[in-house]
Amino acid sequence: MVPRVIFGRGSFNQLSELLAPNRLSNNAPFIFLVDDVFRTNVNITSRIPIAYQDKIILVSTAEEPKTSQVDELVEDIILTSKERPSGIIGIGGGSILDLAKAVAIMLTNEGNAEDYQGWDLVKNKALYHVGIPTISGTGAEVSRTTVLTGPQRKLGINSDFTPFDQVVLDPELTNGAPKDQWFYTGMDCFIHCVESLHGTYLNAFSKTYGDTAYGLCKEIYLDGNLTKKETQDKLMMASWHGGMSIAYSQVGVAHAMSYGLSYLLGTKHGIGNCIVFNHLEEFYPNDVKLFKEMLEKHNINMPVGICKDLSEKDFDTMIDVALGLEPLWENAIGKNWKKTITRKKLKELYSKM
Ligand code: NAD
Ligand code: ZN
Repeated sequence: MVPRVIFGRGSFNQLSELLAPNRLSNNAPFIFLVDDVFRTNVNITSRIPIAYQDKIILVSTAEEPKTSQVDELVEDIILTSKERPSGIIGIGGGSILDLAKAVAIMLTNEGNAEDYQGWDLVKNKALYHVGIPTISGTGAEVSRTTVLTGPQRKLGINSDFTPFDQVVLDPELTNGAPKDQWFYTGMDCFIHCVESLHGTYLNAFSKTYGDTAYGLCKEIYLDGNLTKKETQDKLMMASWHGGMSIAYSQVGVAHAMSYGLSYLLGTKHGIGNCIVFNHLEEFYPNDVKLFKEMLEKHNINMPVGICKDLSEKDFDTMIDVALGLEPLWENAIGKNWKKTITRKKLKELYSKM
């Protein structure tokens, strides 16, 4: 679990006092990994409390985080810091939050990021790390994983050392998020809840968190009587609770198949989940219906036909990635999932997308 979290509009202003007690020395900088979409956004960049040798590194999120990108950032930080940094602070969406977690881990663990993709492979406690989301939905601010694309696979570094030491939830920071992205990233949260609540791993914790976040998503995306501020506040809470729900259980069919799209085509997580979920009536009938209503209500035109020109080899690659995520299928379908989730079945589903 994340041991420390603050929530509230304007809470970003408390960052300086939160960091101060964690500074190891004047030569041990805080490194701020910031989405480069904020390059010209003085409302965020000018409020980052820089002191001593602290450094802001602007990172592009045009592509989702890669293991090689983590290794390069770690090398750059080691080469340009006088001493091991005091901490890593990620400011951005799920991509930046995941990078911050992975960099913090790799600054205290030997080897390359790809060596740690999997479950509980991290040996040493990560460097102090802080997460500050600027768009809501992924739950990356609360989860015990950091999802990375490596040379072999797209898989998280799942470990007890992955979660942030401190999270700052300031809904005001989500002000500039583009509408489509707001929808897709928010739907990641909705889909987390659906997959957790309909999974075989469900338990009292995942259900309680999942029910809460699911209710908030319906209020935000369907009921439509909320102000912009209420929407931002509630979506930030939904993201957290949706993340907690899967922390206690697992995601399901949409995520497994969306990882395949992402690995082959580079489709980003939020939109990829939506593209897949739109075709999962047979697994989650009521929620796919609700999802279609949400699409219509918010005038979202999703891409179609993204798999139409793919070769047999391409389909095989996506199917291999999807089938490799065994815990997701076991959660979604049950222990005997291999009886129904065949290569043929997945090819049929991918072909519709
Ligand atoms: P993202 O971080 O890629 O950001 C999406 C887009 O929104 C980017 O173009 C970014 O620049 C922009 N953006 C973000 N905040 C903004 C703001 N306030 N104003 C203007 N633009 C803003 O997208 P995401 O959906 O938040 O995260 C997706 C990533 O999260 C994927 O890499 C996925 O694998 C990962 N993820 C991780 C977990 C986890 O538990 N660790 C869970 C789900 C997803
Ligand atoms: Zn997700």
